[in-house]
Amino acid sequence: MTREELNKRVFKGFMAEDEADRLYEIAREAARFGPCLEIGSYCGLSAAYLGLGCREAGGILFSIDHHGGSEEQQPGGEYFDPELIDPQTGRVDTLPLFRRTIRELSLEDTVVPIVARSEVVARCWQTPLSLVFIDGSHAYDAVFTDYSSWVSHLRPGGFLLIHDVFFDPAQGGQAPRCIYQLAIASGLFTELPLVRTLGILRRVTPERMNDVERDQRQRNAVCPPAGNTVPRDSPRVESPVPEAGPS
Ligand code: MG
Repeated sequence: MTREELNKRVFKGFMAEDEADRLYEIAREAARFGPCLEIGSYCGLSAAYLGLGCREAGGILFSIDHHGGSEEQQPGGEYFDPELIDPQTGRVDTLPLFRRTIRELSLEDTVVPIVARSEVVARCWQTPLSLVFIDGSHAYDAVFTDYSSWVSHLRPGGFLLIHDVFFDPAQGGQAPRCIYQLAIASGLFTELPLVRTLGILRRVTPERMNDVERDQRQRNAVCPPAGNTVPRDSPRVESPVPEAGPS
Protein backbone atom coordinates (compact mmCIF):
# COMPACT_ATOMS: atom_id res chain seq x y z
CA MET A 1 0.00 0.00 0.00
CA THR A 2 1.28 3.46 -0.90
CA ARG A 3 0.29 6.94 0.24
CA GLU A 4 -1.38 7.49 -3.15
CA GLU A 5 -3.53 4.40 -2.53
CA LEU A 6 -4.36 5.72 0.93
CA ASN A 7 -5.47 9.03 -0.59
CA LYS A 8 -8.05 7.16 -2.70
CA ARG A 9 -9.55 5.44 0.31
CA VAL A 10 -12.62 6.88 2.02
CA PHE A 11 -12.22 7.30 5.79
CA LYS A 12 -14.51 8.49 8.51
CA GLY A 13 -12.62 11.36 10.04
CA PHE A 14 -11.85 15.03 10.17
CA MET A 15 -8.61 15.84 8.40
CA ALA A 16 -7.65 17.43 5.06
CA GLU A 17 -5.58 15.37 2.63
CA ASP A 18 -2.54 17.67 2.77
CA GLU A 19 -2.56 17.48 6.59
CA ALA A 20 -2.72 13.68 6.43
CA ASP A 21 0.11 13.62 3.86
CA ARG A 22 2.27 15.67 6.22
CA LEU A 23 1.55 13.24 9.09
CA TYR A 24 2.84 10.45 6.88
CA GLU A 25 6.01 12.34 5.94
CA ILE A 26 6.86 13.33 9.50
CA ALA A 27 6.14 9.86 10.90
CA ARG A 28 8.43 8.32 8.27
CA GLU A 29 11.20 10.70 9.36
CA ALA A 30 10.60 10.43 13.11
CA ALA A 31 9.98 6.68 13.45
CA ARG A 32 13.62 5.83 12.75
CA PHE A 33 14.54 7.28 16.15
CA GLY A 34 11.88 5.78 18.40
CA PRO A 35 8.18 4.99 18.76
CA CYS A 36 5.48 7.47 17.73
CA LEU A 37 2.28 8.10 19.68
CA GLU A 38 -1.07 9.62 18.82
CA ILE A 39 -3.88 10.69 21.12
CA GLY A 40 -7.29 10.45 19.47
CA SER A 41 -7.55 7.42 17.18
CA TYR A 42 -11.27 7.73 16.29
CA CYS A 43 -11.78 5.49 13.24
CA GLY A 44 -8.16 5.28 12.13
CA LEU A 45 -7.66 8.01 9.52
CA SER A 46 -4.60 9.62 11.10
CA ALA A 47 -3.36 6.23 12.36
CA ALA A 48 -3.38 5.02 8.74
CA TYR A 49 -1.11 7.84 7.55
CA LEU A 50 1.11 7.89 10.63
CA GLY A 51 1.17 4.09 10.60
CA LEU A 52 2.21 3.89 6.94
CA GLY A 53 5.08 6.30 7.65
CA CYS A 54 6.10 4.26 10.69
CA ARG A 55 5.96 0.98 8.77
CA GLU A 56 8.19 2.31 6.00
CA ALA A 57 10.73 3.39 8.64
CA GLY A 58 10.48 0.11 10.57
CA GLY A 59 8.83 1.88 13.52
CA ILE A 60 5.79 1.61 15.77
CA LEU A 61 2.77 3.84 16.42
CA PHE A 62 0.91 3.69 19.73
CA SER A 63 -2.61 4.98 19.21
CA ILE A 64 -4.53 6.00 22.34
CA ASP A 65 -8.28 6.48 22.53
CA HIS A 66 -10.99 5.46 24.99
CA HIS A 67 -13.10 4.92 21.85
CA GLY A 68 -16.23 6.24 23.52
CA GLY A 69 -16.26 9.34 21.30
CA SER A 70 -15.57 12.91 22.36
CA GLU A 71 -18.17 15.30 23.77
CA GLU A 72 -19.33 16.57 20.37
CA GLN A 73 -19.58 13.01 18.99
CA GLN A 74 -22.26 11.96 21.46
CA PRO A 75 -25.96 11.70 20.42
CA GLY A 76 -27.21 15.23 19.78
CA GLY A 77 -23.66 16.56 19.31
CA GLU A 78 -22.41 18.39 16.24
CA TYR A 79 -20.30 15.43 15.06
CA PHE A 80 -22.56 12.55 16.13
CA ASP A 81 -22.52 9.62 13.68
CA PRO A 82 -25.30 7.04 14.30
CA GLU A 83 -23.25 4.37 12.50
CA LEU A 84 -20.83 4.40 15.44
CA ILE A 85 -23.40 3.38 18.02
CA ASP A 86 -22.93 -0.10 19.47
CA PRO A 87 -26.45 -1.62 19.24
CA GLN A 88 -25.92 -3.70 22.38
CA THR A 89 -24.89 -0.84 24.65
CA GLY A 90 -26.45 2.11 22.83
CA ARG A 91 -23.13 3.94 23.23
CA VAL A 92 -20.62 5.33 20.76
CA ASP A 93 -17.84 2.80 20.13
CA THR A 94 -15.23 3.62 17.49
CA LEU A 95 -12.93 0.68 18.27
CA PRO A 96 -14.49 -1.85 15.81
CA LEU A 97 -14.08 0.54 12.87
CA PHE A 98 -10.59 1.54 14.01
CA ARG A 99 -9.54 -2.11 14.13
CA ARG A 100 -11.08 -2.78 10.73
CA THR A 101 -9.13 0.14 9.22
CA ILE A 102 -5.84 -1.11 10.66
CA ARG A 103 -6.57 -4.69 9.58
CA GLU A 104 -7.53 -3.75 6.02
CA LEU A 105 -4.35 -1.70 5.64
CA SER A 106 -2.22 -4.54 7.08
CA LEU A 107 -0.90 -2.22 9.79
CA GLU A 108 -1.54 -4.62 12.68
CA ASP A 109 2.19 -5.14 13.29
CA THR A 110 2.83 -1.39 13.26
CA VAL A 111 -0.13 0.30 14.95
CA VAL A 112 -0.71 -0.66 18.59
CA PRO A 113 -4.13 0.42 19.89
CA ILE A 114 -4.33 1.44 23.53
CA VAL A 115 -7.90 1.72 24.79
CA ALA A 116 -7.74 4.17 27.69
CA ARG A 117 -7.67 7.84 28.54
CA SER A 118 -4.29 9.31 27.71
CA GLU A 119 -3.41 10.52 31.20
CA VAL A 120 -3.98 7.00 32.56
CA VAL A 121 -1.47 5.59 30.07
CA ALA A 122 0.97 8.43 30.82
CA ARG A 123 1.08 7.53 34.53
CA CYS A 124 3.46 4.64 33.88
CA TRP A 125 4.96 5.64 30.55
CA GLN A 126 8.76 5.58 30.40
CA THR A 127 9.73 5.24 26.74
CA PRO A 128 11.08 8.33 24.95
CA LEU A 129 8.96 9.17 21.91
CA SER A 130 10.00 10.53 18.53
CA LEU A 131 6.56 11.95 17.72
CA VAL A 132 3.47 12.92 19.74
CA PHE A 133 0.30 13.82 17.85
CA ILE A 134 -2.42 15.48 19.95
CA ASP A 135 -5.88 15.17 18.41
CA GLY A 136 -8.13 13.93 21.21
CA SER A 137 -10.96 15.75 22.96
CA HIS A 138 -10.90 19.49 22.27
CA ALA A 139 -12.21 20.47 25.70
CA TYR A 140 -9.73 22.76 27.46
CA ASP A 141 -9.06 20.45 30.40
CA ALA A 142 -8.52 17.44 28.15
CA VAL A 143 -6.21 19.24 25.72
CA PHE A 144 -4.08 20.68 28.52
CA THR A 145 -3.94 17.28 30.22
CA ASP A 146 -2.84 15.60 26.99
CA TYR A 147 -0.15 18.22 26.50
CA SER A 148 1.18 18.15 30.05
CA SER A 149 1.03 14.34 30.25
CA TRP A 150 3.07 13.68 27.13
CA VAL A 151 5.29 16.61 26.25
CA SER A 152 8.03 15.50 28.65
CA HIS A 153 8.27 12.12 26.89
CA LEU A 154 9.42 13.65 23.61
CA ARG A 155 13.08 12.98 22.89
CA PRO A 156 15.28 15.83 21.64
CA GLY A 157 14.60 16.27 17.93
CA GLY A 158 11.15 14.68 18.32
CA PHE A 159 8.02 16.17 16.78
CA LEU A 160 5.00 17.60 18.61
CA LEU A 161 2.04 17.73 16.25
CA ILE A 162 -1.23 19.42 17.24
CA HIS A 163 -4.35 19.23 15.11
CA ASP A 164 -7.13 21.83 14.85
CA VAL A 165 -5.02 24.89 15.61
CA PHE A 166 -7.39 27.73 14.71
CA PHE A 167 -6.20 31.33 15.06
CA ASP A 168 -9.70 32.66 14.35
CA PRO A 169 -12.14 31.66 17.13
CA ALA A 170 -14.95 31.78 14.55
CA GLN A 171 -13.30 28.83 12.76
CA GLY A 172 -12.93 26.50 15.72
CA GLY A 173 -12.24 25.93 19.42
CA GLN A 174 -9.17 27.56 20.88
CA ALA A 175 -7.74 24.92 23.21
CA PRO A 176 -5.39 23.35 20.61
CA ARG A 177 -4.11 26.83 19.66
CA CYS A 178 -3.47 27.56 23.34
CA ILE A 179 -1.22 24.53 23.84
CA TYR A 180 0.46 25.19 20.49
CA GLN A 181 1.43 28.67 21.67
CA LEU A 182 2.22 27.42 25.16
CA ALA A 183 4.69 24.96 23.65
CA ILE A 184 6.32 27.70 21.57
CA ALA A 185 6.53 30.01 24.60
CA SER A 186 8.28 27.26 26.59
CA GLY A 187 11.37 27.69 24.43
CA LEU A 188 11.59 23.90 24.10
CA PHE A 189 10.46 23.79 20.48
CA THR A 190 11.21 25.25 17.10
CA GLU A 191 8.28 26.00 14.80
CA LEU A 192 7.88 24.44 11.39
CA PRO A 193 5.30 25.75 8.90
CA LEU A 194 1.70 24.85 9.72
CA VAL A 195 -0.26 22.79 7.21
CA ARG A 196 -3.77 24.25 7.44
CA THR A 197 -4.62 23.58 11.12
CA LEU A 198 -1.81 21.09 11.75
CA GLY A 199 0.74 22.69 14.08
CA ILE A 200 4.23 21.21 13.72
CA LEU A 201 6.86 21.77 16.41
CA ARG A 202 10.20 20.12 16.94
CA ARG A 203 11.79 19.54 20.34
CA VAL A 204 15.10 21.31 20.38
CA THR A 205 18.26 19.27 20.72
CA PRO A 206 20.57 19.74 23.74
CA GLU A 207 22.91 21.85 21.56
CA ARG A 208 20.03 24.06 20.46
CA MET A 209 18.84 24.20 24.07
CA ASN A 210 22.16 25.83 24.96
CA ASP A 211 21.46 28.43 22.26
CA VAL A 212 17.97 29.05 23.66
CA GLU A 213 19.35 29.49 27.18
CA ARG A 214 22.08 31.82 25.92
CA ASP A 215 19.48 33.90 24.01
CA GLN A 216 17.34 34.04 27.16
CA ARG A 217 20.31 35.23 29.26
CA GLN A 218 21.14 37.92 26.71
CA ARG A 219 17.51 39.05 26.59
CA ASN A 220 17.40 39.21 30.38
CA ALA A 221 20.61 41.24 30.45
CA VAL A 222 19.12 43.82 28.08
CA CYS A 223 15.57 43.68 29.35
CA PRO A 224 15.28 42.36 32.94
CA PRO A 225 12.30 40.08 33.52
CA ALA A 226 9.31 41.53 35.37
CA GLY A 227 9.76 41.64 39.13
CA ASN A 228 13.47 42.33 38.84
CA THR A 229 13.31 45.90 37.54
CA VAL A 230 13.85 47.94 40.71
CA PRO A 231 17.40 49.32 40.90
CA ARG A 232 19.35 47.93 43.81
CA ASP A 233 19.88 51.36 45.42
CA SER A 234 16.21 52.46 45.29
CA PRO A 235 14.91 53.77 48.62
CA ARG A 236 13.07 51.09 50.51
CA VAL A 237 9.30 51.66 50.68
CA GLU A 238 8.04 51.04 54.17
CA SER A 239 4.99 48.84 54.50
CA PRO A 240 1.94 50.80 55.67
CA VAL A 241 0.89 47.77 57.69
CA PRO A 242 2.49 47.88 61.16
CA GLU A 243 4.49 44.82 62.03
CA ALA A 244 2.83 42.56 64.51
CA GLY A 245 4.35 42.71 67.95
CA PRO A 246 5.07 39.70 70.11
CA SER A 247 1.88 38.02 71.16
MG1 MG B 1 -8.67 16.82 14.68
